[in-house]
Amino acid sequence: MFQQEPPSLGNQYEDDRVLRSYVKRLIPENSLAAVESSLFEMGKLAGTDLYQLQLADRLNEPVLTQWDAWGNRIDKIELTPLWRLAERVAVDHGVVATAYEQKLGKLSRVHQCALAYLFTPSTDIYSCPLAMTDGAARTLLTHTNQTLIDRAVPHLVTRKPEEFWTAGQWMTELIGGSDVGSSETVARKEEDGTYRLYGRKWFTSAVNSQMALTLARPEGNPPGGRGLALFYVETHDATGGLNNIVINRLKDKLGTRKVPTAELTLAGTQAQLVKGITDGVRNITPLLNITRLWNGISAVALMRRGLALVSDYATKRVVFGKRLSEQPLHVDTLEGLRAEFEAAFHLAFYVAELTGRSETGEIDDDQALLLRLLTPIMKLTTGKQAVIVASEVLESFGGAGYVEDTGLPALLRDSQVLPIWEGTTNVLALDLLRALGQGGTRRRYEDVRHGMTLLLSTANQHFESVRDPHLAAAARVALSALEHARGWLASTDGQTQEHGDKATSPVRSLVRIEAGARRFALTLGRAMELTLLIRHAQWSQDHEQDGRSTLAARRFASSGIDLIVDDLPFRLE
Ligand SMILES: Cc1cc2nc3c(=O)[nH]c(=O)nc-3n(C[C@H](O)[C@H](O)[C@H](O)COP(=O)(O)OP(=O)(O)OC[C@H]3O[C@@H](n4cnc5c(N)ncnc54)[C@H](O)[C@@H]3O)c2cc1C
Repeated sequence: MFQQEPPSLGNQYEDDRVLRSYVKRLIPENSLAAVESSLFEMGKLAGTDLYQLQLADRLNEPVLTQWDAWGNRIDKIELTPLWRLAERVAVDHGVVATAYEQKLGKLSRVHQCALAYLFTPSTDIYSCPLAMTDGAARTLLTHTNQTLIDRAVPHLVTRKPEEFWTAGQWMTELIGGSDVGSSETVARKEEDGTYRLYGRKWFTSAVNSQMALTLARPEGNPPGGRGLALFYVETHDATGGLNNIVINRLKDKLGTRKVPTAELTLAGTQAQLVKGITDGVRNITPLLNITRLWNGISAVALMRRGLALVSDYATKRVVFGKRLSEQPLHVDTLEGLRAEFEAAFHLAFYVAELTGRSETGEIDDDQALLLRLLTPIMKLTTGKQAVIVASEVLESFGGAGYVEDTGLPALLRDSQVLPIWEGTTNVLALDLLRALGQGGTRRRYEDVRHGMTLLLSTANQHFESVRDPHLAAAARVALSALEHARGWLASTDGQTQEHGDKATSPVRSLVRIEAGARRFALTLGRAMELTLLIRHAQWSQDHEQDGRSTLAARRFASSGIDLIVDDLPFRLE
């Protein structure tokens, strides 16, 4: 009787050509050995113990117990065995700590992201609490509130499991996740100078964390994001009880089902200001920059996992007398997905490089602006790619990809969260316009020009070493898309001047820019991915005599880089 051999995983570092080639290019040889041993270890765990437990843990979910047997409200959450092990592994292997120990200087972020990338796909989004923990540590350090730094940061970045804390990020309310400035949670000042928070938080992942950063409006403050303040909350008091927090329920979600995402009521929760009594939305930005980086790293990690499984399966599944890995159309399908992944990988890790530079102070003004622009670009582009790749991976397994106990459908469900949380695609596209000085009603032509020129000059710098004619042709595709994006923005601006109708034209022009923001942002994302892939491909040819990244770059160049449509009819009813 026929028996199908299932897909299997090897050492997830050893088998990953893209990651191995990248770290070889980036990390100096004398540091690489130490880094590589940690990646080998994590790669082994991800392909063996963690992966096996992940499959065995498939049906387990966190459980919220709201009452004890004697009628006391307890709101306790029990995590699944996989998540309990994941925490231990993450702490032991420094999946957060590596970025703060900075043993590799400005490359420590890259090292940490490589660990997170290997760790994430076998731990059912344990990356979520880690991302927020990392983001909270960075936020507290940025705001130099020494009391809070001394109190919390050592717990967040420790390698000792018994001392480790995770952090939550409680922003979204019923009234708004994107429009967080309209938050309704109120902060009432106590006589001792601390605050108590009253309100409802509508999405709070990893609610079992020991601390959280949250937004609330001190009484008397004005409406809008400026009137909110950033608060530090410890979830439990000295007796172990909750800090006047009621967990109303856990969300019943499409994916990320191991993540305990809760709806909370803050009923007089004790809290401390992190920095000032206003500008909470601005002050929580360091956290968002880190969680957006994690989002991108998770996106490429999940793509890579899908491809690892489906590539192995293609060597085992025989159809029409031949393996799938020998069927030209199947091979072509997978090559397209690999190119998407490899391009996305280089953008996500480039943002990690820039983040690392900014954390060690080795960043100039242009690089800082580049980081500001590329963080939303990278998050929104890779999030979309993760969903498309996961969907195609499932199809590439045929019916098996749709069957729950293969473990495969979770890849698609978990990927689908990536374009939603930490800023949706549209919200980040608008954030990009703001970063370019083009959002809202203020228009700063100089900033726009500078931002676009910076992206173009960055691309040109990366192409300086390119000699391979195929890569040079691909580089022209990237440059042409970037030029088109610059031209589109300028011509949409231009309408203001051409029409000369001071009362209405600027508004019309802004409407058109906003309407095209997603196509614009995705074009920049894909063009920068192509750029970085080309640069790596030339290096890989030169130093590894490997042409596989070149093939990926050529394929990616012909997969729709420029998504901008000129003169698209648009009417805002
Ligand atoms: C699994 C999960 C876990 C989460 N965990 C957390 C958490 O731990 N902490 C937390 O604070 N939040 C969390 N969130 C919430 C998440 O960040 C928000 O759901 C997200 O930011 C979107 O906000 P919203 O749900 O209010 O949607 P809305 O803001 O209502 O958005 C609806 C749609 O409108 C679009 N849109 C919004 N504004 C504009 C605009 N100006 N122009 C064009 N389009 C626009 C959006 O892109 C979206 O498609 C989580 C969400 C999920 C799904």
